[in-house]
Amino acid sequence: MNEFALIQRYFLEKSRYNSSVCMGIGDDAALVIPPLNQQLAMSVDTLIAGVHFPVDTAPQAIGFKALAVNLSDLAAMGAQPLWFTLALTLPIIDENWLEQFSEGLFEIAQHYGISLIGGDTTKGKELSISIQIIGAVSPNQALLRSGAKIGDEIFVTGTLGDAGFALAVLQKKMTAQSCNMDRLNYPTPRVFEGLKLRGIANSAIDISDGLLADLGHILEMSGNVGATLFLNDLPLSKELQTLKTEQAWQFALSSGDDYELCFTVSPEKSHLIDFPCTKIGFIEKETGIRCIDKKNKLFIPSHVGYQHF
Ligand code: ADP
Ligand code: MG
Repeated sequence: MNEFALIQRYFLEKSRYNSSVCMGIGDDAALVIPPLNQQLAMSVDTLIAGVHFPVDTAPQAIGFKALAVNLSDLAAMGAQPLWFTLALTLPIIDENWLEQFSEGLFEIAQHYGISLIGGDTTKGKELSISIQIIGAVSPNQALLRSGAKIGDEIFVTGTLGDAGFALAVLQKKMTAQSCNMDRLNYPTPRVFEGLKLRGIANSAIDISDGLLADLGHILEMSGNVGATLFLNDLPLSKELQTLKTEQAWQFALSSGDDYELCFTVSPEKSHLIDFPCTKIGFIEKETGIRCIDKKNKLFIPSHVGYQHF
């Protein structure tokens, strides 16, 4: 199978276009019509085999997750996702792999109603997947990292630490009676929650590198403010609740790949939030993050978050 047949079979034939797409896959560039008077939100993320997912991950999960992590970035901006492009580097053409990869990719694309409008296919030593995503948001409506105010309440969606726990079990660093591998392989980008937070949240970020690391970005970019977190309020799945408390906290605070949203809201507006989420702390003047338990005792995590370099 040559490159063009591959693109046609696994990407062009499965793509669905609405009227915003004037030219999708097939020409030298895609042509799209941006929504009137909206800003475009653009983000790119690369997944490399062995770095961002174990080499033996199911191809379906790789396709799903590659788009999920990009959708999560737009969710954290409060943007409506619209289109994406895919740059794929493959060591070999494996049709079985491509079929499953594209199945996972288009499953999540269809769920969020977004279209694959182009890409690039190359041969290379390592499997690598880059997705560029484009969305739209009204001017002044985007959720930024920089808007947190002293006194804001800090919230997170979903539960924390599950992907990190699943990875530790997968890598045999831990044993567990039950652990939810789907939280690692099929993360849920909080697109609808992000859209609902426009006009409500003062700041937002998606948790890809761990709560402490990502909340740290909000604090830094909001003018060096700080935060207190209530450990006993961290939302933990039933799987994490089976661990020793401090170990569960450690996962919830510092393991990556959860793709939940962390956002801050002024106390006057928090009643406007109309989806499930958990209040875990507040923004304060004193810089740094203090994690305290029920008895006000400080907990010092052993590491803070994932770093690539
Ligand atoms: P060019 O040589 O002009 O860059 P290509 O041969 O790379 O064109 O690609 C042909 C068409 O197929 C283009 O429209 C491109 O966007 C699309 N395409 C290539 N690879 C992919 C892919 N992995 N996913 C989606 N579209 C792709
Ligand atoms: Mg090309």
